[in-house]
Amino acid sequence: MSTDGTTIVWFRGDLRVRDNPALHAAAARGDAIVCLYVLDDESAGIRPLGAASRWWLHGSLTALAGELRELGLPLTLRRGPAEAVVRAVVGETEATAVLWNRRYGEAERAVDAALKSSLRDDGLMVESFQASVLFEPWTVLTGQGGYYRVFTPFWRSVTSGPPPRHPVPAPAVSVARGGVATGAVTEADADAPPLRHRRVDSDDLDSWALHPTRPDWAAGLRERWEPGSAGAHERLRSFLRSGLGRYVDEQDLPAEDGTSGLSPHLRFGEISPFEVWHAVEQHRARVPGDASGASAFLRQLVWREFAYHLLFHLPSITTENMRPEFDRFPWEEPDAAELERWQQGRTGIPLVDAGMRELWQTGVMHNRVRMVAASFLVKNLRVDWRVGEAWFWDTLVDADPASNALNWQWVAGSGPDAAPYFRVFNPELQARKFDEHGSYIARYVPEAGTDAYPEPMVDLAESRRAALDAYATIR
Ligand code: FAD
Repeated sequence: MSTDGTTIVWFRGDLRVRDNPALHAAAARGDAIVCLYVLDDESAGIRPLGAASRWWLHGSLTALAGELRELGLPLTLRRGPAEAVVRAVVGETEATAVLWNRRYGEAERAVDAALKSSLRDDGLMVESFQASVLFEPWTVLTGQGGYYRVFTPFWRSVTSGPPPRHPVPAPAVSVARGGVATGAVTEADADAPPLRHRRVDSDDLDSWALHPTRPDWAAGLRERWEPGSAGAHERLRSFLRSGLGRYVDEQDLPAEDGTSGLSPHLRFGEISPFEVWHAVEQHRARVPGDASGASAFLRQLVWREFAYHLLFHLPSITTENMRPEFDRFPWEEPDAAELERWQQGRTGIPLVDAGMRELWQTGVMHNRVRMVAASFLVKNLRVDWRVGEAWFWDTLVDADPASNALNWQWVAGSGPDAAPYFRVFNPELQARKFDEHGSYIARYVPEAGTDAYPEPMVDLAESRRAALDAYATIR
C-alpha cells in the first residue's frame, strides 16, 4: 500500500528501530513518516527526568537519530506538553495517522487517552502497540480477576501462559531515500514499500541542555556506558557469552561483572524485553549448561514486569505506602548534613559508602548494594523511603518509575510482598558474605580502615533496635 498521506510515529520509552511495532506498522502503511520525540516536562503528573537520566537521554536520542538516518528517516525533536505538541505536528504535516507504543504510568496514560480521542474525533487513525513489557498489566489477573500483589504467583502465572511474541524486525531499507541505507540495522525486504519521510522543523538536541556542563559530573558515566541500541545489543551479546553461565553464582557479588548491565537500555527502550527474552531462550537451547543461569535471569527480568503490573493497577505505588499502617511510621526528619553523608558515601559504613559512590560515579549501583544502602537509610537512619527514592531518581541512569518505587517499598517493608520491616540488612555481614575479599569496597572507598575514613554515623546495633521499636508502634 502506498499513499500520499503522512503517518507520525511518536517515540517515547522505545528509542529503537528494531522490535518497534509502531515504526514497523508505519512503514507497512507506505505513508511518508514523521519520527517524533517530545521532551515533556510540563504535562500534569509527568515526572521530570532526573539529571542522570537526562544525560542518558541525550546519548539515546543521538543514537536513535543515527539508526533512523540509516533508514532515510530524520528524527524530529520538540519540547512541551505532549498533547499540544503532537497536535501541532499533526497540523503542520496534515498527518492522517499517529502511531505509538503503549505506556503504563497513570499520567502518561491520561495524556495518551486524551490525545487518542481528540485525534480520532478529528478523523485521524490512531493506533497503539505493545512494546515495552512482555505481559501487559491487564492481561495477567488472579483467579478472582484482581491483580497480583505477590511476585511468585505472578511469575507462575506469566510463565504458565503463552510465551512472549517474537521481536519484529526493523523496517526494511530497500529504497530508503534521503539517507545512507547501509542495511546494518535491518533486513532488506524486496517487497517492502519504500520508506518516505516528511521533513518538519526540529529542535536542536543541544538546545535541550540535557548534558551537565558546570560542573560536568558525567565523566564516569561516559566511561561506563554507551547509550543506544548498539551498546545495548553489545552488552546482551557479551552477557550471553560470558555472564549468563555464572549468573547464579555471581549475580550477588558487586565486585564481579556478574549481571547484564541492561537496565538503562531497557529503561529507555533501546532494546526490548522481547529481544532479551528470546535471545536468552535461544542461548539456553544452544548451551544447555547455562539453563539455570537463564532461568534465574529471566526471573529477574520478570521483576521489571511485576513492577509495571503494580504501577498500572496501583498508580499510587510511586508516592504512597502500599501498606497504610506505614502512614503512621515515625520517620526521622532528615537533617541535611546527615542526608548528605548518605548521598555522598561518607556514612562510615564501608559497603553503604561504596554503593553510594558507585552510584554517583557510574549512574548505577549493584542490586545487592542498593538493598543494603536503602535499608541503611530507611532503617538505621529511619528516613522515609521517598527521600531515598528521590535521590535514586536523580542519580540512576536506569531510574524507572515502576522499579524504583517498588524496590524502595520492598526494602522499607511498606509494599506488598516486601521484605518485612524487621529484616534489617546488616551492612557488615553483607560485606563479609558478598564482598568477601573487600575488593568492591576497596574500589570505591580506598581509605576505609584508615584515619582518613569517618567514624560510623550511627551505631548499627543501636539504630537497628530503635528501628524495631519504631516499627512496634505501628504494628
Ligand atoms: P540483571 O541482574 O542483569 O537483571 C536483568 C534485568 O532485570 C535488569 O536490567 C532489570 O530490568 C530487571 N531487574 C532485575 N532486578 C530487578 C528488580 N529487583 N526490580 C525490577 N527489575 C529488576 N531497577 C531499575 O531498572 N530501575 C530502578 O530505578 C531501580 N531502582 C532500584 C531501587 C532499589 C532500592 C533497589 C533495591 C533496586 C532497584 N532496581 C531498579 C532493581 C535492580 O537493582 C536493577 O534492575 C539492577 O541492579 C540492574 O542491573 P542489571 O541490568 O545488571 O540487572
